[in-house]
Amino acid sequence: MRTKIVAGNWKMNNDLNASISLISEIKNSLIGKNYKTKIIICPPFTSLETTNALLKGTSISLGAQNMYYEESGAYTGEISAKMLISVGCEFVIIGHSERRTIFKESDETINLKLKAALANNLKPIFCIGETLEERENDKTFDVIRRQLIAGLKDLGESEIQSIIIAYEPVWAIGTGKNATPNQAQEVHKFIRDLLQREYSTYLSDNTIIQYGGSVKPENANELMSQPDIDGALVGGACLKSDSFIKIVESAE
Ligand code: PEP
Repeated sequence: MRTKIVAGNWKMNNDLNASISLISEIKNSLIGKNYKTKIIICPPFTSLETTNALLKGTSISLGAQNMYYEESGAYTGEISAKMLISVGCEFVIIGHSERRTIFKESDETINLKLKAALANNLKPIFCIGETLEERENDKTFDVIRRQLIAGLKDLGESEIQSIIIAYEPVWAIGTGKNATPNQAQEVHKFIRDLLQREYSTYLSDNTIIQYGGSVKPENANELMSQPDIDGALVGGACLKSDSFIKIVESAE
């Protein structure tokens, strides 16, 4: 039985004061609730340490939105896995489509980042997904296969067990246009079958595969009711505590 996981990716939103307010609201909404769903919050780097302090004593986990694969050195502006661990991160988003498209991250870079995260005991949320053009040209499954195989290259099954996969169709991210539950389920099933063929039934059955792309309280229930969808990676709707909590409640 896989646990449902709902993660909030704040992207480049919320300075320190706004982060403190949002975390406080989320914590207040969760008082007295005993949800089975795992909640992960991924604020910007500048709010990680404070968020970690505010989350002490709660069951909410902390994640970062990115990291670099080198340990230390002359990489101006970059953050290492160890630095993220030192401010309480347990998770890190890797391969988000905004990193792939705006910052030109390749499958090879993403593979190096996944390896570095795992070597430092950070659990990656590994994002994959096709663009609209790729979907319209019937390339969705080719793209998903390529991103998954290249991203996981040289990783052993025991390492992959620590990875959460997020299927995020690029055309659904931040657009308000979510994949239909059938479209999302079809790709999640494809990912699960691929994990079985390339690795094992155990890995396929136990890997958490989140859906991401315009998840909102109105569509969360139907999406997360699909048999192969194990939660959500949420962007826009996680910036308001009430909509984020409603999505967590849908996962329940
Ligand atoms: C995301 O940033 O991963 C995301 C899915 O964003 P949104 O929910 O806004 O589409």
